[in-house]
Amino acid sequence: MAVVAAGRVAGAETTATLVGPSGATIPLRTEEAGGKTYFSVADVAAVLEGMIAFDSETRSFEVRLKTHTALFGTEAAVAVVDSKIVSLAAPARMSGLLAYADADFLGRVLGPIAGVTFSWDAGRRTLVAARSAMPEVSVEASVTDVGETTKVVLRFSQPPQYRVEKGGEMIVLKFPGVKLVPVATEKAVDGPRVSRVFFRPGEAVIALKERGLSTNVYALGGPPRLVVDVAHGGAGAAPPPGAVPAPAAPSKARTVVLDVGHGGTEEGAKGPSGMLEKDAMLALAKTMQEVLTQRGFRIVTTRSSDASVSLEERTATANAARADVFVSLHANASRSGGAHGTEVYYLSLDASDRAAALLAESENKAAETPTTEKNAALRDLDLILWDLAQNQHLAASERLAEIIQADFNRLLDVTTRGVKQAPFRVLIGVNAPAVLVEVAFITNPDEEKRLGSEEFRRQTAETLAGSLTTFFRTSASVPPVPYATKPPGRP
Ligand SMILES: [Zn+2]
Repeated sequence: MAVVAAGRVAGAETTATLVGPSGATIPLRTEEAGGKTYFSVADVAAVLEGMIAFDSETRSFEVRLKTHTALFGTEAAVAVVDSKIVSLAAPARMSGLLAYADADFLGRVLGPIAGVTFSWDAGRRTLVAARSAMPEVSVEASVTDVGETTKVVLRFSQPPQYRVEKGGEMIVLKFPGVKLVPVATEKAVDGPRVSRVFFRPGEAVIALKERGLSTNVYALGGPPRLVVDVAHGGAGAAPPPGAVPAPAAPSKARTVVLDVGHGGTEEGAKGPSGMLEKDAMLALAKTMQEVLTQRGFRIVTTRSSDASVSLEERTATANAARADVFVSLHANASRSGGAHGTEVYYLSLDASDRAAALLAESENKAAETPTTEKNAALRDLDLILWDLAQNQHLAASERLAEIIQADFNRLLDVTTRGVKQAPFRVLIGVNAPAVLVEVAFITNPDEEKRLGSEEFRRQTAETLAGSLTTFFRTSASVPPVPYATKPPGRP
């Protein structure tokens, strides 16, 4: 096979040979750094008949391979593969306008979506991408009704990559790159919300009883499972037949934990005239505490001064206070100064879009204080796969997020913003419905000014009071959830 020898370029760039799955051979640009070889992602994508693009606004790369996408930056050791977060050994590197990535990246990010395995022969400087035989993954479905929620649990022999497609009366879970071997191809259920679960090659299908049910999909580890929660829900949805209306005035004060974002050495985002997110959120939390206390709520905050507070301390505060809800307060940042409005998030392993994934990445990074370094476990995104307290509250968290989002859209006169999901680590261990509210864009000059005004903070507090009142009034009587026996960070 003739190999075109590309000329050596200045710097650490060297060349190698890349053999594609069809046997095609092309020159491969490489770089050596830290004793490791990094490969040109563009060259690898080309031999897999894919393409790569660079987004200068988010400074991220996107690889497209058929229907799959992989999104990554060069600052964090994570990639978003078909909207799922994948931890990496090291971030990709950028040289010129080209992305270079190590063998670990190729194996975890490009291999699974291209259906190939990579092998690097350092002596012969040859990287071979070969079609991988599809690994067999066995799967068994079970369906349980827990109160107002139907939980469909798919249990696997090993954790597969998956993609969710929701539409009408079906939820389709697709498992690319594996041969799915179901224990039974069909499970008739005939429950209140789910009629049956069946398997087709490469996918699982959950047939719902009606349209408009709210659904939430999340992964759990040990053993590897995917859980699909199906409930009547969403803001303003009619209560399910037979639901017991909650009393209009709760007999005991509801405990609301306000998590005040950042603090101390963690400044968070910065506004164009220098306002810091950590200061803006402390001022906002103080006003909220005053207003919500007047409205009869019991308020606990995770910090009341300019102090560094670790994620574990924030979560521990919420659980020790027996929080009824947890609201994490943040201010948003965007490279485009025109972005405005409130964004409300609840926890999911799947980020709902690339902006949500990148936001979670930056908020998670910002929350890393020296105290969390002791707990290396929490930094590992894979641990999101654990059975954690928040999983039991996801439907309620979604409902709370929908209510707050709708109310804040009215406050800021925004019509287009919807609730999003992302893997925010501060929400993971909270044993209560939990949301993260990016109240306004501190990077927008108008919204920075509003954040600095007591009048706006008061309006925001009144709006949140209204949202919480709606949330508690419309909460069906849900049995209390036992506390998790395995808190985050303590395996
Ligand atoms: Zn923040």
